Amino acid sequence: MAEVKSDIEIARAASKKPILEVGAGLGIGPEHLLPYGHDKAKISAEFIAAQRGKPDGKLILVTAINPTPAGEGKTTTTVGLGDGLNRIGKKAIVCIREASLGPCFGVKGGAAGGGYAQVVPMEDINLHFTGDFHAITSAHNLLAALIDNHIYWGNEQNIDVRRIAWRRVMDMNDRALREIVCSLGGVANGYPRETGFDITVASEVMAILCLSSDLADLEERLGNIIVGYRRDKSPVFARDLKAHRPMAVLLKDAMQPNLVQTLENNPAFVHGGPFANIAHGCNSVIATTTALKLADYVVTEAGFGADLGAEKFFDIKCRKAGLKPDAAVIVATVRALKMNGGVKKDDLGRENLDAVQKGFANLARHIENVKTFGVPVIVAINHFISDTDAEIAAVQSFAASHGVEAVLCRHWAEGSAGIETLAHKVVELAESGQAQFSPLYPDGMSLFSKIETIAHSIYRAGEVTADKAVRDQLRVWEEQGYGHLPICMAKTQYSFSTDPNLRGAPEGHVVTIREVRLSAGAGFVVVITGEIMTMPGLPKVPSSEKIFLNEQGYIEGLF
Ligand code: ADP
Ligand code: MG
Repeated sequence: MAEVKSDIEIARAASKKPILEVGAGLGIGPEHLLPYGHDKAKISAEFIAAQRGKPDGKLILVTAINPTPAGEGKTTTTVGLGDGLNRIGKKAIVCIREASLGPCFGVKGGAAGGGYAQVVPMEDINLHFTGDFHAITSAHNLLAALIDNHIYWGNEQNIDVRRIAWRRVMDMNDRALREIVCSLGGVANGYPRETGFDITVASEVMAILCLSSDLADLEERLGNIIVGYRRDKSPVFARDLKAHRPMAVLLKDAMQPNLVQTLENNPAFVHGGPFANIAHGCNSVIATTTALKLADYVVTEAGFGADLGAEKFFDIKCRKAGLKPDAAVIVATVRALKMNGGVKKDDLGRENLDAVQKGFANLARHIENVKTFGVPVIVAINHFISDTDAEIAAVQSFAASHGVEAVLCRHWAEGSAGIETLAHKVVELAESGQAQFSPLYPDGMSLFSKIETIAHSIYRAGEVTADKAVRDQLRVWEEQGYGHLPICMAKTQYSFSTDPNLRGAPEGHVVTIREVRLSAGAGFVVVITGEIMTMPGLPKVPSSEKIFLNEQGYIEGLF
């Protein structure tokens, strides 16, 4: 077998077009492209505003079955399908999230796809890129500084120092900062209090940037952020501290979508990167809506498996932005099916038809669920070298028995040539007029009923339990006018249930709500069902140990 090249070796060998040329291909003139070097550019707000009223292309969601810890190739398949659609003569744009430095130097790896289905320059995209995350970090921390400063100078808003809800952020996995005491050192440094850091992608500012339609909407939402509460429990908003306008100033450029290209020189928007647990886990609304004006097909990805990612894509992003997806691709791998069928990670390399069969139940559930939203489905089998023909045939015949096609895709190894069949089928599906998208629950349903609806119809739980305190809190928010908001579930991505070890397609399980949080600026209620880490730690041997500059000054080890 030929030696498998690493992602960075493949990416470095790419022959990139100048970014102005990629933009020109989309009809974006040089005056509307703000280049960051030769291979990245932001798109001007004027250009985006001028697209209003133009017709939209078709929107294709890429989602997946419950993953293994390694990730199942959603980004890789999103990029591959974008190239595949361009290959068969369609005008397609890929829309994906930006990368966080935390997972880059920790365990997960990059966010630019893999093999011959990548967006480039992958080093930049995985590292500082166009500085969006730095801007978000700064805007978030400006608000944090303004809160402590407000209290220092007399606390006119009567913020209860014990009830400050706004922490600080940085884009790094650093468990040492999870819980800290700030303002130590005497009178000149303010009032000591407990607080902590989250990773930037978990910032509400990130979620806000990703859901805002333009700069005015961004500023309004920033103003709605609840920074804490007074002794009478009334909320103090960012706008009460006059923080929203300078925060919007810091985010002015970050709000503009980033244009890059795939290895095959097709356009890709890489913009925004909210956490898929305490936020909604999709790229920015502004990138997706702009792409829909410029292309016939827009391929986008939602984080985690379809139980979390697709549900939030539909119920939060599509609902808020008025998007109507035309088709969904569910990525399945033989490996993940086997894991869902009970095989341990170390035994995934061996043929095991029995486990593949058992794992089907998981795929079947996701197919049914996505159809519930009125979106037609196709399965992409992301081919791994270790897959056997018998295993692949088994997946295909099972999908067929569920009335869905499962197409074998080799984009990781072959680029667009390996995913032509899927591209044709996706076009057929999207053009079939079958899609009749509607969210799972109406805005007007009570918050607790919304949670029950998700738990029953998507997770197939038997029961949702919550302490009186949680139910009371939801009721208070309803009285305060937040009852219309959608729910943002925070649950393990490894199972339909709240137990990561319960694979396959469990039903009748109990979903226990531990905590609820209001993201009043982003516009959703976060419902926490397990341990949610908003500041990850690094593993014993972090990826950073393999990342270095070689003698030519090129980056090595970035996957
Ligand atoms: P996700 O978006 O689902 O988290 P990614 O597309 O980022 O997953 O892929 C996760 C990792 O798996 C990447 O390092 C990628 O290169 C690798 N990968 C994806 N598809 C394949 C494949 N078919 N064969 C081998 N490695 C793959
Ligand atoms: Mg991904």
